[in-house]
Parts: sequence; structure tokens; C-alpha cells
Amino acid sequence: MRRKMAAGNWKMNGDSAALGVISELATTHSGSTDTDIVICPPAPLLFRASEIARDSALTIGAQDCHSAASGAHTGDISAPMIADTGATHVIVGHSERRDACGESDSDVRAKTMAAWDAGLTAILCIGESAADREAGKTLDVIAGQLKGSMPDDATGDRLVIAYEPIWAIGTGAVATTKQIDEVHDFIRAHLVERLGDAAGNAIRLLYGGSVKPANAAEIFKCGNVDGALVGGASLKAADFTPIIRALVDS
Ligand code: PGA
Repeated sequence: MRRKMAAGNWKMNGDSAALGVISELATTHSGSTDTDIVICPPAPLLFRASEIARDSALTIGAQDCHSAASGAHTGDISAPMIADTGATHVIVGHSERRDACGESDSDVRAKTMAAWDAGLTAILCIGESAADREAGKTLDVIAGQLKGSMPDDATGDRLVIAYEPIWAIGTGAVATTKQIDEVHDFIRAHLVERLGDAAGNAIRLLYGGSVKPANAAEIFKCGNVDGALVGGASLKAADFTPIIRALVDS
């Protein structure tokens, strides 16, 4: 059985006042469950967020890392630096970074390996654009991203894959459960074929893109959906908590 995961991606939102949301979530979700809860706040909050989350059911992740451990990379942060804050996860290959920062599949692959070298679990994002979907290329794009950005020695304890159709991110246009099923089943088959039964079935698959309290339960009914990567609805405990509850109950 795969543990479930509710991951919150705060993107470039939240200052020190927002740490109260992490305290609130840590108090609400203190019991042990079969669900991992990961909050990914902006990098300046990682140290304090990790302190708040300690001894709770919450864990903390970063939103990106450099592929090098240290060096002349002004403005970047490395995976060992993230681990040093007490964070345990890092998102890599989010479509906003692939797009705005020109990150290629091989860049994302290098970041994933850097995360592993630092002992972090990588949450690797993939997903097609609206144009890809309209052209009937969704599964080709997904296969290409998996081949290019997922290292061959991926295992369930250090890799989580988030399927986030770009057209559903921040738009309110959530994918249908049929679309989610099709892509998640395809990803699962790819993983099993490439990594074998054990690793292929152990890697968790998250759906991301306009997940809200109102649609979460329906999405979590999909067979190969092990949780969600949530953007906007993870910024307030009042929104994220019902999503976590829907996942726990699924
Ligand atoms: P959203 O973002 O939930 O606001 O659509 C999801 C994401 O980009 O991870």
C-alpha cells in the first residue's frame, strides 16, 4: 500500500505571518495517519517552518533546488542547503519553472539527482499544455517528460510524481476524472515497465491543478491517484484541511 500525500505548493506567496498557517495545520493534523502532509513555503521560511513542523505530522519541502551542491550560482539554493533547514522534500520541474526559467527535462533530471544526493524526496512535476492536449499529444508529452526527467534508479521512498496539466494550474479548470485516470494509469504503466513491479508500483502519483475542497473527494476516487499537489487552496488552513480530510477518508 502506498502512503497518501497532500502537498501544498505556496509558490511565491507567504511571509513570516503565514507561518501561522503551518502552526494551525500542525495542531489540526497531529495524529498519526496513513497520509503524508508536506508544505512547500518560499525558501526564506524553510528554517522556521521546519521548526514549527517538528514533532507534528507535517513535513516541509522547498519549491526548487539547483543541481549543484554549492558554487558560483548567485541567487540559487542547493539541495544540501534545503536539507540543512530541516526540510525533507523538494519540488522539481514545476511547469512554472520549466516555462519561466527555461528548465529542460535534463535540468530537471539533474535537480532530482541532486535532491537524492542530499537525502531529500523529490516531487517531480510533469504535465501537458492546452495546445499539446488539443493536438492529441498528451501521452506523448508525458512519456517524453518521464524519459527525460526521471532518473532510472527512481524508488518509491525518494520520488513522487505530480501530474499537473498546465491548463488546469491556477485556472479553476480542473481535469475530468476520465482525463486524470487516463494519464495516471499511463504513468503507472510506464513506471512499472521501466523500473519493474516493486519500484514502479511504490512511486506515488499526485494530481495537481485547481484542486479545491469541492472537487478533492472526486479526484481521490481515481485509482492511481495517491494524493494532490495543491497551489492556491494550500495557502489557508481552512481550505487545505478539508482537502487533507478528503484524502485521509478516501
Ligand atoms: P493550483 O496550483 O492548485 O493553484 O492550480 C497547483 C500547482 O501549481 O502546483
